[in-house]
Amino acid sequence: MAKIIDGKKIARDILLDLKSKVDKCDKKPGLAVILASDDDSSKLYVESKEKKSLALGYKSCIYRFDKSITQGKLIQLIHELNADKGTNAILVQLPLYKHLDAQQILELIDPRKDVDGFHPINVGKVSCGLKPYAYCCTPKGIVKLLKAYNISLAGKNVVVIGRSNIVGKPVAMLLSNENATVTLAHSKTKNLKSITKEMDIIISATGQSKLIKADMVKKGAVVIDVGITRHYNGTLSGDVDFEKVKEVAGYITPVPGGVGPMTIASLMENTYELFLEQNK
Ligand code: NAP
Repeated sequence: MAKIIDGKKIARDILLDLKSKVDKCDKKPGLAVILASDDDSSKLYVESKEKKSLALGYKSCIYRFDKSITQGKLIQLIHELNADKGTNAILVQLPLYKHLDAQQILELIDPRKDVDGFHPINVGKVSCGLKPYAYCCTPKGIVKLLKAYNISLAGKNVVVIGRSNIVGKPVAMLLSNENATVTLAHSKTKNLKSITKEMDIIISATGQSKLIKADMVKKGAVVIDVGITRHYNGTLSGDVDFEKVKEVAGYITPVPGGVGPMTIASLMENTYELFLEQNK
């Protein structure tokens, strides 16, 4: 039976530690969050980010826009936030309304305020093995979870399933920088099971409920489930068939309560680190 990786507890510890550091600061970190979408999940994520940052004593400001927002207005806001000394971190909640060009907006954020680590300069730094201004939140949270459970990465065979710019690719880069041997799989990958069966660590980030079945997992493997599928009855499930896979795996993350809380803890930590860097 697998050991359950308790992301909620590790995240709580990170946030408690952060709170004690922030309490000692005269000035407080400033986080600006832009919500230009009517996506229900995005609204929930933004609310929870707002709650966490207020609990830490951050000066958080949420910019909520309806569909009439134009690309030009959003560009102007990014320029203002880049110039604002009280704003240390800028987050653009994705996806944006369809008529907006998200990539152009992300590239206009000052990389030193890019709390999500999505700016090409930050992505490029990580791909060169350099320290970015901020690491992407979910990948950073995953590496922290593994380290918190003393799961070594050097020389391990890891498959990352999903190649998005926000999870799959950056987590593959981070793990490679940690000396793991990484396979990056996606929807066109042939015979996924033959790959996952051989792996010491499986990280699934597809949003395909129960994609990872027990017969795809090597005995004792570490299984990290990033996926979130929201069901009509309000429950959540991940990419992994949790009840069956936990009988085979060595370690497993639950959904909810695994990677999710670590993503938000990383966001709060990134905000604090950007604030420190800008106030050196
Ligand atoms: P995304 O942009 O939709 O990417 C999904 C990836 O999964 C794509 O690379 C896709 O391959 C691949 N894929 C889809 N079906 C597959 C299959 N049957 N076999 C193998 N690969 C498959 O999604 P995302 O933004 O990375 O998010 C992925 C999931 O993680 C979602 O459920 C999201 O809600 C969740 N998420 C959770 C957190 C958290 O904090 N827990 C944070 C971010 C995202 P192609 O590239 O070939 O299309």
